Amino acid sequence: MKNITIAIDGPAGAGKSTIAKILSRSLGITYLDTGAMYRTVALKAIREGINTKDEARLEKLVSDIDIKIEYHGDEQHIFLDGEDVSDKIRTPEVSKGASDVSAVKAVRIRMVELQREIAAGQSVVMDGRDIGTYVLPNAQYKFFLNASLEERARRRYKEQLEKGIKDITLEDVKKDIEYRDKNDSSRDFAPLVKADDAIEINTTDMTIQQVVEKILSIIRS
Ligand code: C5P
Repeated sequence: MKNITIAIDGPAGAGKSTIAKILSRSLGITYLDTGAMYRTVALKAIREGINTKDEARLEKLVSDIDIKIEYHGDEQHIFLDGEDVSDKIRTPEVSKGASDVSAVKAVRIRMVELQREIAAGQSVVMDGRDIGTYVLPNAQYKFFLNASLEERARRRYKEQLEKGIKDITLEDVKKDIEYRDKNDSSRDFAPLVKADDAIEINTTDMTIQQVVEKILSIIRS
């Protein structure tokens, strides 16, 4: 069977990673969460006291960064210099830092190299901001998931509460998403934008199952 590649892009909280994980399980293919890679760069910068907007220092930081992805069952784990940081990259501070570091061209070039290496020679579903436009422009299936700002903030807030993060408000989450949307859409290099040939799905009033079924019906048609 020929390899299949599925690109899922969209803003924070649109449902990309939840949907991509389910698709990877249903289709028996690898899932790559590319946001985790930018988050890991941000974590390293924060730990080293580097400003997440300092281009020169970030360029140096990614020149020899050691990021590895491993799969434990179908769970993606991400390692920074040998340490499993999969949970440590999910804080609000790292989210904001990830959006900052991802605007730096040298950071993107290095991360995209790693992403393409992982995609080479196998079937993948990859989620991010620039997968259909830049990382895998020849992906067979491209989807752009979107939802209203209110709904995306509500979903992220619920997720954070479920993870035991209690010292935030819905308003904090909304501000974080607004900050990242603006940053991600306005950067010069590989911004968040729908690919011309991507199918847009507004998930505001849809359940996860409905979105998955819609995507699977397109892939199977
Ligand atoms: O998807 P997630 O919210 O984990 O991504 C964190 C940040 O990483 C995003 O706000 C975005 O700035 C950046 N990112 C990116 N390109 C990708 C994936 C994520 O710029 N392909």
